[in-house]
Amino acid sequence: MKKISVLGSTGSIGTQTLDVVDITGQYEVFALSAHSNVELLEKQIRKYKPSVVCMTDENAASDLRVRVKDTPVKVLSGIDGACECASCDEVDTVVTAIVGIAGLKPTLSAIRSGKRIALANKETLVTAGEIVMREASLNNVEILPVDSEHSAIFQSIANQGKFLNRIIITASGGPFFGKTREELENVTPEMALKHPNWSMGAKITIDSATLVNKGLEIIEAMHLFGLPVDKIQPIVHRESIIHSMVEFCDGSIIAQMGVADMKLPISYALSYPKRTVPVCKALDLVGVGKLSFFDIDYRTFPSIDLAKKAAESGGVMCAVYNGANEAAVELFLGGKCKFTAITELIEKAMDRAPKTQNPELEDIFMADMFARKIVKECC
Ligand code: NDP
Ligand code: MG
Repeated sequence: MKKISVLGSTGSIGTQTLDVVDITGQYEVFALSAHSNVELLEKQIRKYKPSVVCMTDENAASDLRVRVKDTPVKVLSGIDGACECASCDEVDTVVTAIVGIAGLKPTLSAIRSGKRIALANKETLVTAGEIVMREASLNNVEILPVDSEHSAIFQSIANQGKFLNRIIITASGGPFFGKTREELENVTPEMALKHPNWSMGAKITIDSATLVNKGLEIIEAMHLFGLPVDKIQPIVHRESIIHSMVEFCDGSIIAQMGVADMKLPISYALSYPKRTVPVCKALDLVGVGKLSFFDIDYRTFPSIDLAKKAAESGGVMCAVYNGANEAAVELFLGGKCKFTAITELIEKAMDRAPKTQNPELEDIFMADMFARKIVKECC
């Protein structure tokens, strides 16, 4: 049995990873980490009996130690604890399902320990793509994408990367497809949290409503598949059945399809190059009836152009884009800024940020902090 570590085990991807463990019966859970959801992590400890767990929140870790003192599990705390969960000798594959730049250090720790990475935490590649890909190559580590679009691209390329001409990355369009920018002025968190096709954590659901998620995914694809951003074309595909496509040099386009269920890409990232038993319901194409495609409305959703600009600037700019977005989404969810302000704040942070090139890890974290500070000041 492959031994896995699930970072962010209490979240949307984390819990679906544990569903895949249940359905396939092919993985042993060696380590788990969460931030502060003590109740759920305790339940997971009693069910999966991991050897080691971490709560990054210190108070939550103290609480958890008391709750599970009748079990042999080792309870760690803080970001160092998450890094330890990511690098235990016994673990084969690490599922990185922490949300935000908080996942960067533990992911690097897993890579430096030579673990296979099932990567959900896209912010890791967005903020520090060059560093992460360089470390992966130095340590001979495979990064298998969990993000559904990137899993689709990876499956469609199928070892023919040298013939790749273009990536067509699909977007559902989110809950505000067809609206004008003016109509989005008074969007509330409740409205933005209603995604039409996917059930996900709060931050990525807001990112899907602003289309920042597609901007992040374009940068993620650039690093994973080695294409410049102008060769990665986003299009709206309302049904979320085609999870993305690739075009080869001869003009042939290959797409990957399936129901909108994250258990599918999670399972493939864990079992690659093999496949497992079904982990979701079968796709009924006749029931779906038609597949539709539309261009992105770049006026209503400036987030994609900003992401491309950040990618073209290089250096720390993608970390600025990401950090400003993380801070702005938090403010929006707390009722402290408007929905349309999210992309405006990202743009302000990018305009004011230093354009440091060839960054080290410390530069990335400084750029992230700088972006958060600008967002707070400008909100
Ligand atoms: P959730 O918000 O549902 O879960 C986040 C997880 O990370 C939880 O376990 C949470 O712990 C933990 N966490 C939160 N903050 C910190 C922190 N500061 N330090 C350490 N751990 C922390 O997120 P999702 O599962 O939706 O997303 C996880 C990642 O996967 C994101 O990067 C997202 O973009 C990506 N992704 C998600 C998809 C989805 O369908 N959900 C699809 C594709 C990619 P606690 O519960 O204790 O707060
Ligand atoms: Mg995605």
